[in-house]
Amino acid sequence: MRIIERHLPAFCYRDAPLNPEGLIVHWISVNPDAPELNAESVADSYGVDDIWNFLVELNRPGPEKGPIWKPMDGGRLWGSYHYLISRAGDIYQLVPPNRQAYHAGKSEWRGRVNCNGWTLGVALAGGRDDDYEPAQYEALAWLTSHHGLGPWATAGHDEVAIPQGRRQDPGRQFDWQHFRHLVRQEAA
Ligand SMILES: [Zn+2]
Repeated sequence: MRIIERHLPAFCYRDAPLNPEGLIVHWISVNPDAPELNAESVADSYGVDDIWNFLVELNRPGPEKGPIWKPMDGGRLWGSYHYLISRAGDIYQLVPPNRQAYHAGKSEWRGRVNCNGWTLGVALAGGRDDDYEPAQYEALAWLTSHHGLGPWATAGHDEVAIPQGRRQDPGRQFDWQHFRHLVRQEAA
């Protein structure tokens, strides 16, 4: 497999160094019905271009948004991932893995707080209503192993977000047993 570099602008992540000791799994989609978005500018909820544009405008400092976002009053939000795995299983690197992304928010895992400071964030194109594609599991397992991480160095955002229940991703449809089996195979 290969990694396609498509870095977000520097304002989308922190310059602070990262030495990844874990990997947090997320979902992402662009919901054209969200009130803050221009529905007609979203071609494909799971499309790489739409997700990339969505993240850029989410993080852009200042009120100038668009065209995917409606103008907001100084509405800067934070959200980014080191990797995006498309429905086809292509791996896009959005943030350099030696820098900290804004993916976990307030979080705690195995007694350590601030997962952004020590984990990679990987977003699978997906949502509540769809199963993940076999190619996405394969890509995620390869990527986990590529970073020297084992099957138990991984967790879902739902597991680490505090307070508990704040996040639901990657969702009940994510098959952890299958994924961890694939990671073990990668390492073998
Ligand atoms: Zn998440």
